[in-house]
Amino acid sequence: MIIDHDFHIHTTLSLCAHDDTATVENYVRRAKDLGLRKLGFSNHMWDSSARPASGNFYEVQDYAHVAQLRSEIDRCSAESGVDLYFGCEVEYDPIRRDIALTERTAQAFDYILVPNSHTHMMMPEEYYEPKARHAQFMFDAFMDIVTSPLAKYVTAVAHPFSAVCCPYDRRLLYPLISEKQYREAFVCAREHDIAIELNISGYTEYGIREIVQDPTIRMFRIAKECGCKFIFGSDAHSAAAGETHDFWWIAYILAELLELKEADMTEIVRR
Ligand SMILES: [Zn+2]
Ligand SMILES: [Zn+2]
Repeated sequence: MIIDHDFHIHTTLSLCAHDDTATVENYVRRAKDLGLRKLGFSNHMWDSSARPASGNFYEVQDYAHVAQLRSEIDRCSAESGVDLYFGCEVEYDPIRRDIALTERTAQAFDYILVPNSHTHMMMPEEYYEPKARHAQFMFDAFMDIVTSPLAKYVTAVAHPFSAVCCPYDRRLLYPLISEKQYREAFVCAREHDIAIELNISGYTEYGIREIVQDPTIRMFRIAKECGCKFIFGSDAHSAAAGETHDFWWIAYILAELLELKEADMTEIVRR
């Protein structure tokens, strides 16, 4: 299978994308080398009309902030020959136990990613131990996302169950969620037409053998058995050489391990 979409890209509008190469124009140039025909831009977002994000990372990254990309996308779209999509990676709000989004804002995007695993930002620190508590937090967040009244706007769960910036090896957490729980979560995602993201940034430190043995592979196989559709994302925060797009080959390893076909991809990214 040719993987010609990347639907998880950050530009300089994300506060954590410090590299000034992270522009639509540079990513489009890079996409051509990688054979990508569809690019989705998903900057970090918190819709302040759902609940103000005061005093944290999201305070300035509200809808008006990420919407600045729309004109750049429209300008590059016309001349690039690559299909460009305006999306966001909107946060899960653990206080409201819902997506930090409103219906009105949701409708402005071509697609929406929601992570259940930004636990470094959204989870109380004391939940890191015991590790089962951390795993349970991600499970609960996943269920809140896929059963939300806004679920119909969600395209995919970003890097599911892959705890970001975890102080210990994130791989310790996957076995702490039972097969029954994974099935419950993935069946619910499928019922709401929410895809599962295959995010290559989580594997860039590993060799092929480690990727083959990674516990996410078993998890994604369960998702596939539950009938879930998939979407690929690099989670690039830079378009410079040596950064995430140099590891695009990992997408092909994942597709091979999961025996994915075009029909397993979610509709918006199909050829
Ligand atoms: Zn993320
Ligand atoms: Zn991201």
